Amino acid sequence: MVSYKAPLMYIAGEWTKGSGKPKDVINPATEEVLAQLPGATEADLDRALESTQRGFKAWSGLSAEARCDIVMKGCQILRERAAEIAPHITMEQGKPVEEARMEIIRAASIIEWDVQQGRRAYGTIVPSDPGFNRFGLKLPIGPVAAFTPWNFPISSPGRKLGAALGAGCSVIIKSSEETPTSTCALVECLLAGGLPPEVINVVSGNSSMISAYLIASPVIRAITFTGSTPVGKHLAKLCAEAMKPAVMELGGHSPVIVFDDVDVAAIAKQGAAGKFRNAGQICTAPTRFIVQEKAHDAFVETFVNAAKAIKIGNGLDKGTQMGPLANPRRMAALEAMVADAKAKGATIATGGSRIGNRGYFFEPTVLTDVPDDADVVNIEPFGPIAPVIRFNDLEEAIEIANRLPYGLCSYAFTNSQARSFELAHRVESGIMSLNHFGTSQADTPFGGVKESGYGREGGYETLDAFMITKFISQKITA
Ligand code: NAD
Repeated sequence: MVSYKAPLMYIAGEWTKGSGKPKDVINPATEEVLAQLPGATEADLDRALESTQRGFKAWSGLSAEARCDIVMKGCQILRERAAEIAPHITMEQGKPVEEARMEIIRAASIIEWDVQQGRRAYGTIVPSDPGFNRFGLKLPIGPVAAFTPWNFPISSPGRKLGAALGAGCSVIIKSSEETPTSTCALVECLLAGGLPPEVINVVSGNSSMISAYLIASPVIRAITFTGSTPVGKHLAKLCAEAMKPAVMELGGHSPVIVFDDVDVAAIAKQGAAGKFRNAGQICTAPTRFIVQEKAHDAFVETFVNAAKAIKIGNGLDKGTQMGPLANPRRMAALEAMVADAKAKGATIATGGSRIGNRGYFFEPTVLTDVPDDADVVNIEPFGPIAPVIRFNDLEEAIEIANRLPYGLCSYAFTNSQARSFELAHRVESGIMSLNHFGTSQADTPFGGVKESGYGREGGYETLDAFMITKFISQKITA
């Protein structure tokens, strides 16, 4: 039995329970209470805000190379501790322990890329009149407030911390109330690598109170959020009132366009593996399978068989391929979506129900003949439900793909170069994978268009949200 280390907040260089109301942290596979989540009060947040100002002064005062050395050492420690931290992610969130371990390695890789980008944050030299120097300096924007979700409890905080630290900023981070220890473990590793104590503050508790308080504070200069589109819109309004820039990484409803000129069975198998990974709770998950008429039935048959073969269980158990949903909210949402689709005439090709009555387990579900007005093809399902939709030609496929207000990720499969080119230009999404189900890496830009948000994490652009360009014009006096 793996023991679970209770979460704490980290304020002004000290681990603390804080003084607010605690909340249960629940294991979604067993519904047992794992620990108490500390609750931050306004007084706790004030201490974190004062601390982050000191942290910013210390961190931005170091050279990019010195910052890089410290964070790289922290990442090395994170990699070494991956096997020990992984079960915590599984216990809080449900995913299979090997997936949790891989997520930790991914978090390390993301942070390493980000912090090294700090060494390449070149400014510009502008041609000047004689007697003048003109240049654009890249400077860290200031203390950042970061809000992260429960589906990737360590790589999402990794994206926020890596970019902010790489830019030279301090951070106050609030991770999801459902998955707090992963952030604590990550911060412990960075501190063990030599990060000055006040560069990161960790707070937890009431999400809406904490975000409203931090965003309104003049100390905070930029915001980064990953979560649902409705909460993102709410936070974007708070940011607008305080004139703060923000990165918004929000929901998606990724179309997967499958033409009939590909190996349909192979794509169906890979699609099922991608769809049901992390129980479908991934913002870039392949979700609306839009399959050309001639290939539709063969696709559904293989996809359904692959869905039925998935081994479901506690993520700590060997061989588990899909764990529980992360929380009872997802269970209620999925049950409602299936009932709605059924009432509107969809066919349940497999699944559709909760498994057992302990733990939030839900069957891998495939729906066919889903009408356009069914919730499941309009609202992000964020769970193991795959609607399969038919199309006839390229124009119709693009129309279906672009029908929704989301635009995070998209996938398409065809052996035609001409079609690939059309799809790459016309499907509205921030990320597109052609002929495979992989998505972003540390060195590639990640983010959405339309209501999936704005700003990019990772890639060449990773520091943009956390740096300002300051124009300096200098008259040479001597
Ligand atoms: P939610 O939007 O209520 O919560 C998502 C995350 O945002 C949680 O971790 C929560 O702690 C945080 N949050 C909520 N309100 C907040 C606030 N006022 N200020 C700061 N943080 C806040 O959604 P949920 O019920 O946890 O999940 C439902 C939906 O969220 C899913 O259907 C999916 O669409 C979306 N979601 C998206 C991602 C993503 O990676 N983009 C991740 C998790 C959830």
